[in-house]
Amino acid sequence: MLQGLVQQAPVPSYSQLLEQLRNGSVRDLELSTRRREVRVTYTDGRTVTVPVFSNDQVLLRSAQEARVPLTVRDDRRDEATAGLVSNILLLVLLFGGLALLIRRSSQVANRAMGFGRSQARVQPEGSVTVRFEDVAGINEAKEELQEVVTFLKEPERFTAVGAKIPKGVLLVGPPGTGKTLLAKAIAGEAGVPFFSMAASEFVELFVGVGASRVRDLFRKAKEKAPCIIFIDEIDAVGRQRGAGIGGGNDEREQTLNQLLTEMDGFAENSGVILLAATNRPDVLDAALTRPGRFDRQIHVDLPDRKGREAILAVHARSRPLDPEVSLGDWASRTPGFSGADLSNLLNEAAILTARRGQPTLDDQVLNDALERITMGLTVAPLQDSAKKRLIAYHEVGHALLTTLLPAADRLDKVTLLPRSGGVGGFARTMPDEDVLDSGLISKAYLRARMVVAMGGRAAELVVFGPSEVTQGASGDLELVSRIGREMVTRYGFSSLGPVALEGDAHEVFLGRDWLRSEPHYSRETGNRIDAQVRGLAVEALSQAVALLTPRRALMDALVEQLIEQETIDGDQFRAIVERHEVAPAEAVAGLVQLPC
Ligand code: ADP
Repeated sequence: MLQGLVQQAPVPSYSQLLEQLRNGSVRDLELSTRRREVRVTYTDGRTVTVPVFSNDQVLLRSAQEARVPLTVRDDRRDEATAGLVSNILLLVLLFGGLALLIRRSSQVANRAMGFGRSQARVQPEGSVTVRFEDVAGINEAKEELQEVVTFLKEPERFTAVGAKIPKGVLLVGPPGTGKTLLAKAIAGEAGVPFFSMAASEFVELFVGVGASRVRDLFRKAKEKAPCIIFIDEIDAVGRQRGAGIGGGNDEREQTLNQLLTEMDGFAENSGVILLAATNRPDVLDAALTRPGRFDRQIHVDLPDRKGREAILAVHARSRPLDPEVSLGDWASRTPGFSGADLSNLLNEAAILTARRGQPTLDDQVLNDALERITMGLTVAPLQDSAKKRLIAYHEVGHALLTTLLPAADRLDKVTLLPRSGGVGGFARTMPDEDVLDSGLISKAYLRARMVVAMGGRAAELVVFGPSEVTQGASGDLELVSRIGREMVTRYGFSSLGPVALEGDAHEVFLGRDWLRSEPHYSRETGNRIDAQVRGLAVEALSQAVALLTPRRALMDALVEQLIEQETIDGDQFRAIVERHEVAPAEAVAGLVQLPC
């Protein structure tokens, strides 16, 4: 046994302990009153702990009689220390937990408070690099807005003569026409900060957030006045109140109300000018467009040919153009393109140029970029097969009719190179610039468009017979029905007379009432409309068939050429048609006189 190790003795009972005291086998005792136990050390060195009574007089007396030394241990201090330590530990734990909880909840609260803050992007003064010279092709809008720049730069000139600076300017126009760019240019020219935000960013899941964001935006803007606030797509919050299915949307209406209040609230000539953009001014709430709010409306339309040339020139500034490229020609080839489309065209061309390792952007690259944008990516050409021949006849049908009909669009090219999205080939036409710019479309033009659209189906009928026609013309039929319906119900181009039976298509979610979108005519009139539309379509198809049937040989020749070349451009196509036409041009014109 190891020395120094205290040996434990078997625990005696209380009476045995008293007996052991009496017979002298105990050396000493140590009493712990609090724990009610006594530690016994025997004469042979062994120890044992025996439970005793509290205030045990018998044990005291027995120890005294046996002359065994008895010490009383004071263990109160030990216990107090232990208690203190455990209490402190508990407190530390408690405070730690509490601090953690508070931190967590304050993070949540911070996030919740941040909801109400506006998410506007701010460009401080001097950091807007756009100038009026970067905006091209929309000169009227630019001139009107020039005034706003002067308002911001020299307000005294206007206030001195009692003129009120406009609070809001509404920019109205299709997407991509440069509304945002114009707003930035104003800030850039005037050298003021530019706050911009899309109206949809106001509206949140929670009611009231939009309103508080509007308040926050105006507060920030007022601090930075003079400045410009630009709200894109204002129709997202500015739609007529109380409209739509179920009467409207609380959050949107509260946001709009707040916007109206803020616009009323900022003092005249405070230097904050609100610019907003939309392409649906008709759905805006009347309260927004009344004087004192958005009292100016500026139309930013799609650019005309000159405008497109100017926009191309702006975007060509930073790109190396081949000297051969004529921007005027490209402007002619891109009718209906917006500024954003034109900028995209040059960008696509630049990407292709870089990919091909060319030093400059040439006509070929611009042509490829245009086709990529308008028709999608090219896919591998079809092998010479029955399918390819059928597509060729279909496209030649369209192309031949558009060439023959004087009122129709001019053929730009016809191709058999397929595009992604299931397009096997296409005949591309160029709308007449005058028609496009004036916005006036004649009955003869619409009828010619219907006949040209039927060209594909007619060619299939003439060449392959009625049982072999394909569904490939479904898109064409849709177009024909749409034109026919508009002719009958909107333009008064039918025997139903000069009545407008339908207006512009209204979408119920854009601030129109569900009930109001019901037609205003009787069921009987509805049937007559359908009959008229069908009549127009049938007539267009028979016109197309009548024009193509005697030109079967010409169609065959064109198809052979197209299959061989894959693409025939407009001029070449017209030359072939002219060579093959047996009848002189007048006869052609006579033949294609459409009954009106
Ligand atoms: P909107 O706000 O009308 O939808 P943007 O102003 O955002 O259109 O135009 C998008 C981009 O198109 C512009 O950044 C610019 O590169 C180009 N763009 C549009 N219109 C013009 C224009 N008139 N002149 C020059 N670039 C234009």
